[in-house]
Amino acid sequence: MTTKLPQPDTLPEDCRPRTLMVHGGTRRSGFEETSEAMFLTSGFVYDSAEEAENAFANEGSRFVYSRFRNPTVAMFEDRLAAYEGYERCFGTASGMAAVFAAVMGQLKAGDRIVASRALFGSCLYIVKEIAPRFGIETVLVDGTDNAQWAEALSRPADMVFLESPSNPCLDVVDLKTVVKLAKAAGAKVVVDNVFATPVLQRLKPLGVDVTVYSATKHIDGQGRCLGGAILCDAEIAAKLGLFLRHTGPSMSPFNAWVLLKGLETLELRVKSQCDSALAVATALEESASAARVRYPGLKSHPQHDLAIRQMAAGGTLICFDVVPRDGETEKQAAYRVMNALRVVKISNNLGDSKSLITHPATTTHQRLTDEERATLGILPGTVRLSVGLEDPADLITDLTRALSAS
Ligand SMILES: *Cc1c(COP(=O)(O)O)cnc(C)c1O
Repeated sequence: MTTKLPQPDTLPEDCRPRTLMVHGGTRRSGFEETSEAMFLTSGFVYDSAEEAENAFANEGSRFVYSRFRNPTVAMFEDRLAAYEGYERCFGTASGMAAVFAAVMGQLKAGDRIVASRALFGSCLYIVKEIAPRFGIETVLVDGTDNAQWAEALSRPADMVFLESPSNPCLDVVDLKTVVKLAKAAGAKVVVDNVFATPVLQRLKPLGVDVTVYSATKHIDGQGRCLGGAILCDAEIAAKLGLFLRHTGPSMSPFNAWVLLKGLETLELRVKSQCDSALAVATALEESASAARVRYPGLKSHPQHDLAIRQMAAGGTLICFDVVPRDGETEKQAAYRVMNALRVVKISNNLGDSKSLITHPATTTHQRLTDEERATLGILPGTVRLSVGLEDPADLITDLTRALSAS
């Protein structure tokens, strides 16, 4: 059957990933626009009743409804898929919509998930609280301990879910080992790659079946809109495609357009933010007022060797403990420093062009018990810093002044 779809721009086969992030997935509407068009439409019209019938009979031959697929969303999806090397990408309304569909869209009652304990709060809620309600068994392990993965995966499993580096304490999971153990146990591997970003950690070559993102973070990278993405190959895509189409966590075309433009500058932004993060982490490590500075790019990180083998750089996030002064609690010390910052803003968000700091114990991880927080390395004086695009010298000055302010 003939298709009315504008064809994607063709690029030389040997184009490098950075070029794919600028041109990949582009389809011109017929007006020959340079910048991709935003298709704010829920539906599409047919020339005839026969054409409508054909559209439903030949799936994928054209656009039929924006809950299924939308041209602007498709450009975002195709561009990210081209960069990552997966056959398919699905844009979703938020990162959590992507995680929920990637997990619940593949599993059924009686299945078993093995997940690392250090997960983004809402991801932990899905595997620990929601999945068991549907008869899915969840086993949590310390993601940094290969022996615990081996033990949990010595029995058959259906899914492995993890995050590396993890939020907020930047634990690194040995992906090669865990993927191998997962495959031997018959499990599909789903990785939340938000902290590493598509730029620093490529998961498809490691055998990761599904990569998920909160596009809200570095992919937008400018704090403007919510979005998510699921990347996988055709077999899983067939299953997830139906789940997504019928449950409807679709990405809005407006957000897709914002995120599509975000992809064009993602590499430049993330690389610059990583350089700044290393400089800031190094300065913090030299400060007597900051203890236990955790940054995968620093030699002092307990898994530094693994981190540099697995990631192209140390990432854009840093975690550290503020040292209390006489008569001050750890929490008071953390608050004192956060409140004294003038360039770095207080926010629970991350992956923004603006540097953001958060106190995990009282915000993102408030609902955990003290003991649960301690297992994750979150102490009352722990703060998480997301490094933005400011001049790193100003960030260092801001932090140094705040750490020494009275
Ligand atoms: C923010 C975040 C999510 C959730 O993404 P939303 O876009 O806020 O729904 C999931 N995982 C990690 C690691 C995150 O940082």
